[in-house]
Amino acid sequence: MTEKIFYKSLYQTEFDAEVLDVIDGRGLVLDRTLFYPGGGGQPCDLGFINGLEVVNVYEHDGVIVHELKDLNINLKKVHGVIDWARRFEMMQQHLGEHIFAAVLYNKFNINTLRMRIENGAASLDLDKVVDENIIREAESEANEIIWKNIPVEVFNADIEDIKKFSRKQPPSKAGIKAVRVVKISGVDYVPCCGLHVKNTGEVGVIKFVKAEHDKNFTRVYIKCGRGAFNWLSVLVQEAHKIQIALTCGGHEIYNRVETLQNDLKEIASRNKILLEQIALMQTDKIMSKALKSQGGFIIAPEVLDYKDLKFIKDEEDIINYVKILFKELTKALGVIALLGCKINKERTFIIFGSNKCAKNIDVRKIFNEALKMIEGKGGGSGVCAQGFGSKPENLIEAVNKACESSLKLF
Ligand SMILES: [Zn+2]
Repeated sequence: MTEKIFYKSLYQTEFDAEVLDVIDGRGLVLDRTLFYPGGGGQPCDLGFINGLEVVNVYEHDGVIVHELKDLNINLKKVHGVIDWARRFEMMQQHLGEHIFAAVLYNKFNINTLRMRIENGAASLDLDKVVDENIIREAESEANEIIWKNIPVEVFNADIEDIKKFSRKQPPSKAGIKAVRVVKISGVDYVPCCGLHVKNTGEVGVIKFVKAEHDKNFTRVYIKCGRGAFNWLSVLVQEAHKIQIALTCGGHEIYNRVETLQNDLKEIASRNKILLEQIALMQTDKIMSKALKSQGGFIIAPEVLDYKDLKFIKDEEDIINYVKILFKELTKALGVIALLGCKINKERTFIIFGSNKCAKNIDVRKIFNEALKMIEGKGGGSGVCAQGFGSKPENLIEAVNKACESSLKLF
């Protein structure tokens, strides 16, 4: 059994110990340790042993194993240093969770099923759907308890006492008569194996972050102490930058962003109308150069280049623009549109076809020939086939050839 000095010397950061065993070449077993092996929803401690990084700590049958990143030397006596900043924050988060859970239970009759600290966030799983107003009320009250600076008592309590006084039932393992209890006088009394700061005041502050709901379950995320401070510092800095950019007060940020979003939507819809108008003008230009086929159809070929379409925002919109052109050109029966477009240096788009009602036209043969020339992939129906290719240098020739074939075919 490893002597758990972290329970007795909660605020000690360094220790000396003897090596008793090495497991799988990297797991160090010591006679005593300050490294908490994890439990009660609290992750294990990290740090260094003789300058070697401790990457994981776990307990098996009372023996604590310290997994080191590299262990290539034979160690007998060691000096361990725990990552104190991280541990202290864990103790703040952990007691913060106790206080929050106690307020929810005492004031609102809400049970916390599970607490955990992971990825820098503390969370509580509640046994019902809880309104955010209640969570905010609990947040306020939890902070009042913190600022009363109530001492935290830790002791072994009789199982029967725990059943009587605790908001949480003790472990039901046979043969266990006493269990470690964490008590905040007048606030909370629960069995717990984790590490907590000695007074509620050391939690500093609790900040509710967000809540996720399920059918009959709520997960509440909170941040406490240093975790809350670091998180809020980033948020305040960002909010300040937004305030300067929007020249507004902190309480106006959301309204201003909402206005901006609405403005953007309006600009996007106006943009769409403008594009359609430009497309109409271009349609007229294309039709003025259109050719008459042997069968009396109007063949309208056109090759566009992204360099001439700088008024369009991005590649996706260039493709949409070509599609608008196609739609406009093929509104009239008897027009066969053969459109190609260089989307960027390496990519091309082609769309060939006619009016949806033109049953005697099938562009697929000429489309496939053009597609081959631009080494593309695509398909479609006899009246609308489209695809993408990778040879912009062949695009003009591909469309010209399709035009020549169309003049004879249709
Ligand atoms: Zn605890």
